[in-house]
Amino acid sequence: ISYSDDQGWHDAKITARRPFQVDPASPVFHYGQEIFEGLKAYHHAPREGEKGVALFRPDANARRFKASARRLAMPELPEELFLQALEELLKVEKDWIPEGEGHSLYLRPFMISDGAFLGVKPANNYVFCVLASPAGSYFSKGAVSVWVSENYTRAAPGGTGEAKCGGNYAGSLVAQQEAKRQGCDQVLFLDSANRRYVEEMGGMNVMFVHRDGHVSTPPLNGTILRGITRDSLLRLGREMGIEMREEPVDIEEVFAGARSGEIVEAFACGTAAALSPIGSFRRPGGEVKFGDGNTPGPVTLKLREKLTGLQRGRYPDPFGWVQPVALD
Ligand code: PMP
Repeated sequence: ISYSDDQGWHDAKITARRPFQVDPASPVFHYGQEIFEGLKAYHHAPREGEKGVALFRPDANARRFKASARRLAMPELPEELFLQALEELLKVEKDWIPEGEGHSLYLRPFMISDGAFLGVKPANNYVFCVLASPAGSYFSKGAVSVWVSENYTRAAPGGTGEAKCGGNYAGSLVAQQEAKRQGCDQVLFLDSANRRYVEEMGGMNVMFVHRDGHVSTPPLNGTILRGITRDSLLRLGREMGIEMREEPVDIEEVFAGARSGEIVEAFACGTAAALSPIGSFRRPGGEVKFGDGNTPGPVTLKLREKLTGLQRGRYPDPFGWVQPVALD
């Protein structure tokens, strides 16, 4: 779907994936005026013998996309258009939605600016697109190892951390490389002011399970992404009777707590993998492990089972999160 200041949103079409033309002087190339989303379409069976395709809370992605657009001085795509674009695309791509637990068709909505000037200002033209690509199950490994980045931060107050924009990820790639060089799977970012409070991972939010049974996760302070999985787990966990707290998490307390047994599990959460158990945290001069470092803990597994079971229709959905898609 194209956008121009004088025409608004226009020219919606579905085509085979192919290169498209964007002016080399477009602000997207020079100033990173770009935002995106990520969600999954999957088969779900609400009742024995029934079959359908569903999206999980796509309205939340549509709202976050609008918020990201505002932050990047881009036009807001109306929620209905965002959702309609997904639905129309799924009608065309329905044979590519893989069957099987954990398998899905990954959808990547994004918007870039188009224009022909080098001044630092927002463009007058934009293109909204959705890519679709089959995705396999993410649960390949027992638990991931996490490198705590002391050299890099992901976002600062007043910056773009809360927006889902490409620039945030461009800045985090080198930290992810560092994590890999250190032999870890993922990177964990701390706050920029104190380098002390846990923010989030490269592409996931993070939660901790305490000995007394409560679960803690850093609060939404304007620098971390408003993860939809994070929000879903906070509500689902409370429904399950778990005390879910949004509170600052001090990295020193994570290391000390993992050693003393005060913190018994940790996991990352996001659309791609739902819940990824964390087996260990490492930083210069120290490592802490949960159990043998490769075995998911019981609370992590219970939350994962509840969330993925609700998504796939194995459990009821009291929140109305699962959105069936009409494909005919
Ligand atoms: N934080 C970051 C930096 C992410 O890229 C993602 C993935 N979108 C998340 C958190 C998790 O968000 P969600 O649960 O909406 O996928």
